[in-house]
Amino acid sequence: MIIGVPREVKQDEYRVAMLPVGVEELANRGHTVLVEAGAGLGSGLADHDYLRAGCELVATAKEVFERAELVVKVKEPQESEWPLLRAGQALFTYFHFAADRKLTEAVLTSDVTAIAYETLSDAKGQLPLLTPMSEVAGRMSIQEGAKYLERPQMGRGILLGGVPGVAPANILILGGGVVGANAAKIAAGFNANVAILDINVDRLRYLADVMPPNVDCLFSDRHTIAEQLDRADLVVGAVLIPGAKAPCLIRREHLKTMKSGSVIIDVAIDQGGCIETSKPTSHNDPTYIVDEVVHYCVTNMPGAVGRTSTYALCNVTLPWVIQLAQRGIESAAKELPPLARAINMHGGKVTNAAVAETFDLEL
Ligand code: NAD
Repeated sequence: MIIGVPREVKQDEYRVAMLPVGVEELANRGHTVLVEAGAGLGSGLADHDYLRAGCELVATAKEVFERAELVVKVKEPQESEWPLLRAGQALFTYFHFAADRKLTEAVLTSDVTAIAYETLSDAKGQLPLLTPMSEVAGRMSIQEGAKYLERPQMGRGILLGGVPGVAPANILILGGGVVGANAAKIAAGFNANVAILDINVDRLRYLADVMPPNVDCLFSDRHTIAEQLDRADLVVGAVLIPGAKAPCLIRREHLKTMKSGSVIIDVAIDQGGCIETSKPTSHNDPTYIVDEVVHYCVTNMPGAVGRTSTYALCNVTLPWVIQLAQRGIESAAKELPPLARAINMHGGKVTNAAVAETFDLEL
């Protein structure tokens, strides 16, 4: 099979969809891998690394899309890429169709087979191609929080871990899933006082077992949130109700109870955010202030740590790319249920119920 890896063109996106080792694995199995020149640079991977691994380096994305039977990407195809998509080709990437009608229509019209990372689910209903990015965003939320708590960044001027004789920061984490647990682990390592809130009691039991003593695992309700908010220096929004908009847990009037210069990192912003005053921002201009509270609401946090994120993503996508290449797209989808569930569009039709329902399209 001919597999193509174009350079990502979304603003502030530094990831690439395949590592040199992936190229080597595919080339060793007799496949041809086309890599666009410069595709890996944002992640610190040079063209010669890919050449050494056995790729064919091509000058333009146009050539990748023209020749590849399977195109592997990171982000949904951008408007400049839509004219390059061609009927019969398969595209394996994050799409998040439900968030974007124009994208949905463009990909549907192009008649490519859209295989979405975000709907590839295992037998337990887990989403193994989403998990690593939540791990990255969760860990990064504390790193960013620490930065924006610094006075020159308009924060309160608080060191997360304090020092002997001075109290550490209080961190409130809303949601104890993958993002929340990773945030809590890093925050605890900084020696901060951490409260992690969830509505799933089984999940709280698990967290209480595995978290260190400076993490309180609490049931999430209005009163507990209000109590914790008064004390918080840093709030991380990490809730998710699968398939739905994030619930709004902090209203504008609650900001007045927060300390001046405290920081909110709303990781759940890609699902609308869980704070009323959250609005999407980018790495170029990540923060804004409402009622003296710094808000950070970047929708693609992992993009900023492109190298870590590229490795984390490719570790989990490569086995599926190999399956698609070895079996062929149609057989792989027939034989492997997770891949069948990942197919959102095929033959000019939507094949994912949630996407069809969102836009009232025929299945
Ligand atoms: P997850 O499903 O693992 O965890 C979500 C948790 O929220 C669950 O444990 C759930 O019980 C809990 N929850 C639901 N309602 C709640 C409430 N009212 N109060 C407290 N907890 C509640 O999801 P995840 O992988 O941790 O992802 C969390 C969010 O982060 C998602 O919206 C995801 O898309 C987003 N995310 C954003 C970025 C980014 O770059 N901004 C990157 C990765 C993930």
